[in-house]
Amino acid sequence: MVKQRVVITGGAGFVGTSLCERFLADGWAVVAVDNLCTGRMDNLAHLRQHPDFQLQIADVSDGLTVAGEVAAVLHFASPASPFDYLAMPIATLRVGSAGTLNALELAKIKGARFLLASTSEIYGDPLEHPQRESYLGNVSSIGPRSVYDEAKRFAEAATMAYRRSFATDTRIIRIFNTYGPRLKPDDGRVVTAFLAQALRGEPLTVFGDGGQTRSFCYVDDLVEGIVRVLERGDGMPYNLGNPNEFTIMELAERVQELLGPQRIIYRPLPADDPKQRQPDIRRAREELGWEPKVQLREGLEKTLAGLRATLGLPA
Ligand code: NAD
Ligand code: UDP
Repeated sequence: MVKQRVVITGGAGFVGTSLCERFLADGWAVVAVDNLCTGRMDNLAHLRQHPDFQLQIADVSDGLTVAGEVAAVLHFASPASPFDYLAMPIATLRVGSAGTLNALELAKIKGARFLLASTSEIYGDPLEHPQRESYLGNVSSIGPRSVYDEAKRFAEAATMAYRRSFATDTRIIRIFNTYGPRLKPDDGRVVTAFLAQALRGEPLTVFGDGGQTRSFCYVDDLVEGIVRVLERGDGMPYNLGNPNEFTIMELAERVQELLGPQRIIYRPLPADDPKQRQPDIRRAREELGWEPKVQLREGLEKTLAGLRATLGLPA
């Protein structure tokens, strides 16, 4: 039997690695394409010997060529942590624009289904709460975060244009803050930042007064949502995230419940940091029967176990 092949750009990253695992487990052949700017070869070490797994080290902003049949292209390549995209502003704009066009072109040529990893950041600092897919957003086009937000907004526009112009079979997901064991301890995202700080006995760095909110989704829940959107979704965007909303101070408290009391130090709130964020997931729930299952406590414990391994600490 000929296996279906999926191309996953950003396959060596945090979410991309879990997607590679899931598609291999579901019987697909997987081609991961990654330039390792924020991803890690270590993430894929356990997959390298798999007979249905291929890795291409390449920058998708420069082009994307894959020989043979392809049934789906999942475009996940992009720095995602604010630390990373603020350090790589031009590369972030390029991968959202040129990289997305290259991934769409591959899908068009192959007659493959295309799925774009977009983000809750396209809502900016939202004035509607929780955010529905119909909300058009409150985004600064000139602030520091615009390199990511506007690149993803362009990527959504490009995806819709391919759908309208070439009838490419497209999907768009807007991912809300997702966390899990493979996040890098030093990429600045808040869940791993707090866990790594607590493990090292360092103070937790709260930006602003910690009253801003986020809704944290465990990576396995996200991956299940992605598979359902790919298989059964339609061409309009789907929010994928966990609707349970926490202030950053509440997250700091949950980390202390796990790892004991830590000092908190306050740092300035980064420019344009959204004050609140919570997905309205009715569309995914009602149309695809999807909703997150992993609660924050369980997700933090699993993430902590992964982080200890990454840092070489005893379990
Ligand atoms: P990540 O940084 O761990 O993974 C991104 C991967 O893309 C890395 O392996 C990186 O090396 C690769 N990459 C970046 N630019 C590339 C290029 N030009 N060519 C080839 N590879 C390139 O981030 P992540 O959290 O796994 O995010 C994956 C995707 O999901 C991103 O598109 C991100 O915008 C989106 N997303 C993630 C979250 C989240 O909370 N994790 C939220 C919203 C959206
Ligand atoms: N944050 C924080 N301390 C940190 C890192 C982040 O207080 O060490 C805050 C950050 O200002 C934001 C929230 O936590 O309000 C989530 O930040 P993250 O970078 O994880 O994701 P994003 O801002 O993209 O949602």
